[in-house]
Amino acid sequence: MPYFKKSPWVIHYDASSCNGCDIEVLASLTPVYDVERLGIVNTGNPKHADIFLVTGSVNEQNKDVLQNIYSQMPDPKVVVALGICAASGGIFRECYNVSGGVDKLIPVDVYVPGCAVRPEAIIDGIVQAIGVLEAKRAKLKSMAAGLEALEVSPAFFTDAEEVLALQKLAYQSEAELYNDFTLSPLCQTVEELKQDFSHKVFLKAVMDNKIVGSVRAYADGGGCFIGRLIVHPLYQNLGIGKKLMQGIEAHFKDAKRYEIFIGHKSKRTIFFYTKLGYKKFKTEKVTEKRERVYLEKFNLED
Ligand code: SF4
Repeated sequence: MPYFKKSPWVIHYDASSCNGCDIEVLASLTPVYDVERLGIVNTGNPKHADIFLVTGSVNEQNKDVLQNIYSQMPDPKVVVALGICAASGGIFRECYNVSGGVDKLIPVDVYVPGCAVRPEAIIDGIVQAIGVLEAKRAKLKSMAAGLEALEVSPAFFTDAEEVLALQKLAYQSEAELYNDFTLSPLCQTVEELKQDFSHKVFLKAVMDNKIVGSVRAYADGGGCFIGRLIVHPLYQNLGIGKKLMQGIEAHFKDAKRYEIFIGHKSKRTIFFYTKLGYKKFKTEKVTEKRERVYLEKFNLED
Protein backbone atom coordinates (compact mmCIF):
# COMPACT_ATOMS: atom_id res chain seq x y z
CA MET A 1 0.00 0.00 0.00
CA PRO A 2 1.44 3.43 -0.95
CA TYR A 3 2.15 6.21 1.53
CA PHE A 4 -0.52 8.88 1.94
CA LYS A 5 -0.17 12.22 3.65
CA LYS A 6 -3.64 12.12 5.18
CA SER A 7 -5.42 9.16 6.77
CA PRO A 8 -8.52 8.43 4.71
CA TRP A 9 -11.65 8.49 6.86
CA VAL A 10 -14.56 6.27 5.94
CA ILE A 11 -18.26 6.50 6.71
CA HIS A 12 -20.52 3.47 6.45
CA TYR A 13 -24.23 3.49 5.59
CA ASP A 14 -26.45 0.43 5.54
CA ALA A 15 -28.95 1.24 2.78
CA SER A 16 -31.11 -1.87 2.92
CA SER A 17 -28.75 -4.78 3.36
CA CYS A 18 -29.80 -8.07 4.94
CA ASN A 19 -27.10 -7.27 7.54
CA GLY A 20 -24.75 -9.85 6.05
CA CYS A 21 -22.47 -7.26 4.42
CA ASP A 22 -22.72 -4.89 7.40
CA ILE A 23 -21.36 -7.43 9.80
CA GLU A 24 -18.40 -7.90 7.47
CA VAL A 25 -17.77 -4.13 7.44
CA LEU A 26 -17.63 -4.28 11.25
CA ALA A 27 -15.27 -7.26 11.02
CA SER A 28 -12.97 -5.16 8.83
CA LEU A 29 -12.93 -2.34 11.37
CA THR A 30 -12.47 -4.37 14.54
CA PRO A 31 -9.38 -6.42 15.66
CA VAL A 32 -8.49 -9.52 13.53
CA TYR A 33 -8.78 -7.54 10.24
CA ASP A 34 -8.37 -4.09 11.89
CA VAL A 35 -8.34 -1.69 8.96
CA GLU A 36 -7.41 1.12 11.39
CA ARG A 37 -3.87 -0.23 11.57
CA LEU A 38 -3.53 1.06 7.99
CA GLY A 39 -4.48 4.56 9.16
CA ILE A 40 -8.11 4.26 8.00
CA VAL A 41 -10.53 5.76 10.52
CA ASN A 42 -14.27 5.16 10.73
CA THR A 43 -16.28 8.34 11.35
CA GLY A 44 -19.98 8.98 11.92
CA ASN A 45 -19.81 12.49 10.47
CA PRO A 46 -20.11 12.81 6.66
CA LYS A 47 -18.37 16.19 6.81
CA HIS A 48 -15.20 14.43 8.01
CA ALA A 49 -15.36 11.50 5.60
CA ASP A 50 -13.42 10.87 2.37
CA ILE A 51 -14.76 7.42 1.48
CA PHE A 52 -18.42 6.42 1.55
CA LEU A 53 -18.98 2.67 2.12
CA VAL A 54 -22.51 1.60 1.21
CA THR A 55 -24.08 -1.81 1.74
CA GLY A 56 -27.49 -2.85 0.46
CA SER A 57 -29.63 -1.58 -2.38
CA VAL A 58 -31.42 1.71 -2.93
CA ASN A 59 -35.11 1.95 -2.15
CA GLU A 60 -37.73 4.65 -1.61
CA GLN A 61 -37.06 4.75 2.14
CA ASN A 62 -33.31 5.27 2.01
CA LYS A 63 -32.65 7.28 -1.15
CA ASP A 64 -32.98 10.68 0.55
CA VAL A 65 -30.67 9.62 3.39
CA LEU A 66 -28.10 8.25 0.96
CA GLN A 67 -28.12 11.43 -1.09
CA ASN A 68 -28.01 13.58 2.04
CA ILE A 69 -24.91 11.82 3.40
CA TYR A 70 -23.22 11.98 0.00
CA SER A 71 -23.93 15.69 -0.46
CA GLN A 72 -22.50 16.53 2.98
CA MET A 73 -19.15 14.88 2.25
CA PRO A 74 -16.49 17.35 1.08
CA ASP A 75 -14.87 16.99 -2.34
CA PRO A 76 -12.97 14.99 -3.36
CA LYS A 77 -14.93 11.94 -2.21
CA VAL A 78 -15.13 8.31 -3.25
CA VAL A 79 -18.08 5.92 -3.09
CA VAL A 80 -17.57 2.17 -2.61
CA ALA A 81 -20.51 -0.18 -3.24
CA LEU A 82 -19.98 -3.20 -0.97
CA GLY A 83 -21.72 -6.44 -1.91
CA ILE A 84 -23.83 -7.41 -4.85
CA CYS A 85 -26.93 -5.64 -3.46
CA ALA A 86 -25.11 -2.30 -3.43
CA ALA A 87 -23.73 -3.01 -6.91
CA SER A 88 -26.96 -3.96 -8.66
CA GLY A 89 -29.77 -4.58 -6.18
CA GLY A 90 -28.70 -8.24 -5.95
CA ILE A 91 -31.37 -10.72 -4.98
CA PHE A 92 -33.69 -7.82 -4.09
CA ARG A 93 -33.40 -6.03 -7.43
CA GLU A 94 -36.86 -6.93 -8.67
CA CYS A 95 -38.65 -6.13 -5.43
CA TYR A 96 -41.46 -3.62 -5.81
CA ASN A 97 -39.70 -0.93 -3.76
CA VAL A 98 -36.06 -1.45 -4.86
CA SER A 99 -34.62 0.98 -7.41
CA GLY A 100 -31.40 -0.99 -7.88
CA GLY A 101 -27.77 -0.47 -6.94
CA VAL A 102 -26.25 2.60 -5.31
CA ASP A 103 -25.22 4.00 -8.71
CA LYS A 104 -28.90 4.60 -9.51
CA LEU A 105 -28.60 7.56 -7.15
CA ILE A 106 -25.00 8.62 -6.62
CA PRO A 107 -21.80 7.99 -8.63
CA VAL A 108 -19.96 4.84 -7.53
CA ASP A 109 -16.17 4.67 -7.94
CA VAL A 110 -15.40 1.14 -6.70
CA TYR A 111 -17.57 -1.99 -6.81
CA VAL A 112 -16.70 -4.83 -4.42
CA PRO A 113 -18.68 -7.98 -5.31
CA GLY A 114 -19.67 -10.72 -2.88
CA CYS A 115 -22.65 -12.04 -0.97
CA ALA A 116 -21.71 -11.43 1.70
CA VAL A 117 -18.65 -9.38 0.81
CA ARG A 118 -15.54 -10.72 2.60
CA PRO A 119 -13.48 -8.45 4.93
CA GLU A 120 -10.37 -9.03 2.78
CA ALA A 121 -12.34 -7.81 -0.26
CA ILE A 122 -13.60 -4.79 1.71
CA ILE A 123 -10.03 -3.84 2.64
CA ASP A 124 -8.97 -4.32 -0.96
CA GLY A 125 -11.88 -2.10 -2.08
CA ILE A 126 -10.86 0.61 0.40
CA VAL A 127 -7.26 0.49 -0.88
CA GLN A 128 -8.59 0.91 -4.44
CA ALA A 129 -10.75 3.79 -3.21
CA ILE A 130 -7.67 5.48 -1.75
CA GLY A 131 -6.08 5.36 -5.22
CA VAL A 132 -9.19 6.97 -6.72
CA LEU A 133 -9.21 9.57 -3.94
CA GLU A 134 -5.57 10.48 -4.60
CA ALA A 135 -6.30 10.79 -8.35
CA LYS A 136 -9.25 13.09 -7.62
CA ARG A 137 -7.14 15.18 -5.25
CA ALA A 138 -4.42 15.50 -7.89
CA LYS A 139 -7.04 16.54 -10.46
CA LEU A 140 -8.42 19.21 -8.13
CA LYS A 141 -4.89 20.49 -7.50
CA SER A 142 -4.16 20.71 -11.21
CA MET A 143 -7.48 22.48 -11.75
CA ALA A 144 -6.49 24.99 -9.08
CA ALA A 145 -3.12 25.45 -10.81
CA GLY A 146 -4.92 25.92 -14.13
CA LEU A 147 -7.11 28.63 -12.67
CA GLU A 148 -4.88 31.22 -14.34
CA ALA A 149 -6.32 29.96 -17.63
CA LEU A 150 -9.87 30.55 -16.39
CA GLU A 151 -11.66 33.05 -18.51
CA VAL A 152 -14.37 35.33 -17.10
CA SER A 153 -16.35 36.96 -19.91
CA PRO A 154 -19.90 38.07 -20.72
CA ALA A 155 -22.40 35.27 -21.28
CA PHE A 156 -24.89 35.52 -24.11
CA PHE A 157 -28.39 34.39 -24.94
CA THR A 158 -26.94 31.27 -26.58
CA ASP A 159 -25.38 30.25 -23.24
CA ALA A 160 -28.79 30.19 -21.50
CA GLU A 161 -29.25 26.40 -21.53
CA GLU A 162 -25.77 25.68 -20.19
CA VAL A 163 -26.09 28.37 -17.50
CA LEU A 164 -29.48 26.98 -16.44
CA ALA A 165 -28.13 23.41 -16.18
CA LEU A 166 -25.28 24.69 -14.02
CA GLN A 167 -27.69 26.74 -11.90
CA LYS A 168 -29.83 23.68 -11.19
CA LEU A 169 -26.75 21.66 -10.24
CA ALA A 170 -25.27 24.39 -8.04
CA TYR A 171 -28.54 24.99 -6.16
CA GLN A 172 -28.98 21.31 -5.20
CA SER A 173 -26.99 21.82 -1.98
CA GLU A 174 -29.10 24.90 -1.15
CA ALA A 175 -32.29 22.88 -1.67
CA GLU A 176 -30.97 20.15 0.62
CA LEU A 177 -30.05 22.72 3.25
CA TYR A 178 -33.67 23.96 3.42
CA ASN A 179 -35.23 20.66 2.40
CA ASP A 180 -37.05 22.64 -0.24
CA PHE A 181 -36.71 21.59 -3.86
CA THR A 182 -39.10 24.30 -5.04
CA LEU A 183 -36.52 27.10 -4.74
CA SER A 184 -36.93 29.47 -7.68
CA PRO A 185 -33.44 28.80 -9.20
CA LEU A 186 -34.41 25.12 -9.45
CA CYS A 187 -37.77 25.84 -11.06
CA GLN A 188 -36.67 28.48 -13.55
CA THR A 189 -37.28 27.58 -17.19
CA VAL A 190 -34.92 28.27 -20.06
CA GLU A 191 -37.45 30.76 -21.52
CA GLU A 192 -37.52 32.70 -18.21
CA LEU A 193 -33.74 32.72 -18.09
CA LYS A 194 -33.55 33.96 -21.68
CA GLN A 195 -35.85 36.84 -20.71
CA ASP A 196 -33.41 37.76 -17.92
CA PHE A 197 -30.75 38.32 -20.56
CA SER A 198 -32.76 41.34 -21.80
CA HIS A 199 -32.25 43.37 -18.61
CA LYS A 200 -29.35 41.71 -16.75
CA VAL A 201 -25.66 41.35 -17.44
CA PHE A 202 -24.46 37.74 -17.23
CA LEU A 203 -20.84 36.74 -16.74
CA LYS A 204 -19.54 33.23 -17.22
CA ALA A 205 -16.37 31.49 -16.05
CA VAL A 206 -15.11 29.07 -18.70
CA MET A 207 -12.60 26.28 -18.23
CA ASP A 208 -11.83 23.71 -20.95
CA ASN A 209 -14.68 25.13 -23.08
CA LYS A 210 -17.16 24.39 -20.29
CA ILE A 211 -19.09 26.97 -18.23
CA VAL A 212 -18.11 26.26 -14.61
CA GLY A 213 -19.46 29.43 -13.01
CA SER A 214 -21.77 32.35 -13.62
CA VAL A 215 -23.18 35.48 -12.02
CA ARG A 216 -25.73 38.07 -13.12
CA ALA A 217 -26.55 41.65 -12.13
CA TYR A 218 -28.44 44.77 -13.12
CA ALA A 219 -28.13 48.46 -12.29
CA ASP A 220 -30.94 50.49 -10.73
CA GLY A 221 -30.89 53.94 -9.13
CA GLY A 222 -27.12 54.02 -8.69
CA GLY A 223 -27.01 50.53 -7.16
CA CYS A 224 -25.88 47.24 -8.66
CA PHE A 225 -28.03 44.25 -7.72
CA ILE A 226 -26.11 40.99 -7.99
CA GLY A 227 -27.73 37.56 -8.04
CA ARG A 228 -27.21 33.85 -8.43
CA LEU A 229 -23.48 33.47 -8.13
CA ILE A 230 -23.05 29.82 -9.12
CA VAL A 231 -20.01 27.56 -9.38
CA HIS A 232 -19.97 23.92 -10.46
CA PRO A 233 -19.71 21.76 -7.29
CA LEU A 234 -16.50 20.12 -8.57
CA TYR A 235 -14.86 23.50 -9.10
CA GLN A 236 -15.78 25.12 -5.78
CA ASN A 237 -13.18 26.52 -3.35
CA LEU A 238 -10.79 27.32 -6.20
CA GLY A 239 -11.39 31.09 -6.30
CA ILE A 240 -13.84 31.05 -9.25
CA GLY A 241 -16.62 32.73 -7.23
CA LYS A 242 -14.23 35.51 -6.21
CA LYS A 243 -13.16 36.08 -9.83
CA LEU A 244 -16.80 36.30 -10.93
CA MET A 245 -17.63 38.78 -8.17
CA GLN A 246 -14.62 40.92 -9.06
CA GLY A 247 -15.70 40.73 -12.71
CA ILE A 248 -19.28 41.83 -12.11
CA GLU A 249 -18.21 44.65 -9.76
CA ALA A 250 -15.73 45.84 -12.41
CA HIS A 251 -18.48 45.72 -15.05
CA PHE A 252 -20.65 47.97 -12.86
CA LYS A 253 -17.74 50.12 -11.71
CA ASP A 254 -19.88 53.29 -11.66
CA ALA A 255 -22.37 51.87 -9.16
CA LYS A 256 -22.42 53.58 -5.75
CA ARG A 257 -23.20 50.35 -3.93
CA TYR A 258 -23.53 46.61 -4.60
CA GLU A 259 -26.26 44.48 -3.09
CA ILE A 260 -26.79 40.75 -2.87
CA PHE A 261 -29.02 38.44 -0.85
CA ILE A 262 -28.59 34.89 0.38
CA GLY A 263 -30.51 32.33 2.47
CA HIS A 264 -29.92 32.64 6.22
CA LYS A 265 -28.61 29.07 6.56
CA SER A 266 -25.90 29.51 3.94
CA LYS A 267 -23.27 30.49 6.51
CA ARG A 268 -20.27 29.65 4.31
CA THR A 269 -21.57 31.81 1.48
CA ILE A 270 -22.31 34.69 3.86
CA PHE A 271 -18.74 34.36 5.18
CA PHE A 272 -17.45 34.39 1.57
CA TYR A 273 -19.23 37.69 0.83
CA THR A 274 -18.05 39.15 4.15
CA LYS A 275 -14.46 38.44 3.10
CA LEU A 276 -15.16 40.39 -0.10
CA GLY A 277 -16.20 43.42 1.97
CA TYR A 278 -19.99 42.95 2.07
CA LYS A 279 -21.93 43.71 5.26
CA LYS A 280 -25.35 42.54 6.37
CA PHE A 281 -27.92 45.35 6.48
CA LYS A 282 -31.30 43.60 6.72
CA THR A 283 -33.09 40.27 6.82
CA GLU A 284 -36.45 39.43 5.31
CA LYS A 285 -38.70 36.47 5.98
CA VAL A 286 -39.53 34.53 2.79
CA THR A 287 -41.31 31.50 4.26
CA GLU A 288 -41.76 30.09 7.78
CA LYS A 289 -38.43 28.28 7.44
CA ARG A 290 -36.43 30.58 5.23
CA GLU A 291 -35.08 34.12 5.57
CA ARG A 292 -33.12 36.24 3.14
CA VAL A 293 -30.00 37.97 4.44
CA TYR A 294 -29.22 41.15 2.47
CA LEU A 295 -25.61 42.26 2.17
CA GLU A 296 -24.21 45.48 0.74
CA LYS A 297 -20.87 46.98 -0.16
CA PHE A 298 -20.19 50.61 -0.99
CA ASN A 299 -18.03 51.44 -3.95
CA LEU A 300 -15.21 53.47 -2.43
CA GLU A 301 -13.67 54.07 -5.82
CA ASP A 302 -16.77 55.84 -7.02
S1 SF4 B 1 -24.95 -8.86 -0.89
FE1 SF4 B 1 -25.76 -10.67 0.19
S2 SF4 B 1 -25.04 -10.43 2.28
FE2 SF4 B 1 -24.79 -8.46 1.28
S3 SF4 B 1 -26.62 -7.33 1.78
FE3 SF4 B 1 -26.98 -8.36 -0.18
S4 SF4 B 1 -27.95 -10.31 0.34
FE4 SF4 B 1 -27.05 -9.52 2.22
